[in-house]
Amino acid sequence: MNEERIRRAMEQEPVLARVARAEEVFWMNPRYGGELPGDAPGDADIEDARQRLLRFAPFLRRRFPETLPDAGLIESPLREIPGMLRAMDCGLSGRLFLKMDSHLAIAGSVKARGGIYEVLKHAEELAFAGGLLRAGDDYGRLDSDEARAFFGRYTIQVGSTGNLGLSIGIMGAALGFRVVVHMSQDAMEWKKALLRESGVTVIEYADDYSAAVAEGRRRSDADPMSYFVDDENSRTLFLGYAVAAGRLEAQLRSAGIAVDEAHPLFVYLPCGVGGAPGGIAYGLKRRFGANVHCFFVEPVQSPCMLLGMASGLHSEVCVRDFGLTGITRADGLAVGRPSGFVGRMMEPFLSGEFTVRDGALFDDLRLLWQTEGVFIEPSACAAFAGPRRMAEAGEYLRAQGLEGRMGAATHIAWATGGSLVPEEIRAEALATNC
Ligand SMILES: *Cc1c(COP(=O)(O)O)cnc(C)c1O
Repeated sequence: MNEERIRRAMEQEPVLARVARAEEVFWMNPRYGGELPGDAPGDADIEDARQRLLRFAPFLRRRFPETLPDAGLIESPLREIPGMLRAMDCGLSGRLFLKMDSHLAIAGSVKARGGIYEVLKHAEELAFAGGLLRAGDDYGRLDSDEARAFFGRYTIQVGSTGNLGLSIGIMGAALGFRVVVHMSQDAMEWKKALLRESGVTVIEYADDYSAAVAEGRRRSDADPMSYFVDDENSRTLFLGYAVAAGRLEAQLRSAGIAVDEAHPLFVYLPCGVGGAPGGIAYGLKRRFGANVHCFFVEPVQSPCMLLGMASGLHSEVCVRDFGLTGITRADGLAVGRPSGFVGRMMEPFLSGEFTVRDGALFDDLRLLWQTEGVFIEPSACAAFAGPRRMAEAGEYLRAQGLEGRMGAATHIAWATGGSLVPEEIRAEALATNC
């Protein structure tokens, strides 16, 4: 039974006892460098996703003119943040950058990668099957009354803590789909309101994320015209996120930043169910191999991916099994049960994990605002726990022979959301101490 397996896992992995006490920890992944599972996506799968996004660029340019500067691609700036690095005063060597998915077009969060990609892929499949599109067509024609009437016969449903619902709701509605978003109790009011304004049906649950997903899946499965975006298991979402790696490589190159044995790259990713950080890290590892080091960060009360990976039990465990509440002010990370698919894919690729107190998120939210004039949401601030606390990862650096190379390192804090946060909620976040 699970209780017995959890007890055994806690004996084997001492960090789990500290995680269960909601302490801030660093965990080094003992399976790092092993073999990928047999069902792991290949480079061709990521390339297929990249090509699909290119095909949709003419549609996105027409429907969302804010994507025009990037020619219809949804991509975010990579910005060096030396003021933040100085102010953190944490002894980190190398340069620190912010990957500003907080400012991605259309949805203002990292979910604009995976979530929008999955909606587009589903739309493409329906359009080809229904004769609305033929190979070689300009996808700009999907911005038409005919196309909207076509997609209007179909429903897309998703469970969300907020941002995934926003990305799927906005893009689904833009194509003409009926969209139903099942929102967990942690979802912010303004995210629900924004969705309703876009014509999306929002169903609220007095329960956590996993419950919202389960009910959404059940209702969708009961309707043959409905498609469910399954954040806990979706390979499609994962591949949409993985496309980020090639784009980041081009940005690093054009900024003159080398990534090789002498110049290691460190990437810090806030983690909820795992799809977004997992897909991005997966793409990065396939591109940069041993020269990139990916770390996830989760709140101390909802470290579901850490529990799943460190115990080896993946989606068979949830935070409540370890006596944790799952409650956090980082609404995007308030997930009690990890994606088993992502956990398995990350076993050989993830360097380690940090957990972080909510209070630290708000301190860094303020610090980033004061030093760089950039606002990102509390969940996104989890990324700073990595660079701030690299000293805790000394054992990893020694094991990888990285200690002498840190002066030439590049660190990227992956800012996962924030640009859509309304003014009054920003002011509240900037004034929060907890
Ligand atoms: C969704 C989200 C994450 C984490 O993504 P998962 O796929 O749930 O792991 C991190 N930050 C923000 C702001 C998010 O919305």
